[in-house]
Amino acid sequence: MALDPTFQTNWVATALLNLNIWKDHSCNLGIYGTDAALDFDRRIGDAACIEVCPVYVLDVQGPAAGRKTLSSRERDGIYCLGCQAACPKFAIRVSKP
Ligand code: SF4
Repeated sequence: MALDPTFQTNWVATALLNLNIWKDHSCNLGIYGTDAALDFDRRIGDAACIEVCPVYVLDVQGPAAGRKTLSSRERDGIYCLGCQAACPKFAIRVSKP
């Protein structure tokens, strides 16, 4: 199952630095980001999304096993949908504000 496309309507957001983290009753880790949203309960950490992004929106942060791909610079995105298409787990959803 892909990232829930209704998360901006039906899930609750809390702020983490410059990102929102979205959660509902069904998730564990939640969705990080809004325009370039990454579902941490579905992603597998293969970094395919990082490699395709032409404007370096995505990067990896955190130590060792806790390393996570974050859309740290999502406001710099050009909405090319490259990362969404590259993700084998359908864990990314890109949408314009
Ligand atoms: S949609 Fe394109 S520009 Fe935006 S984060 Fe994904 S790969 Fe980068």
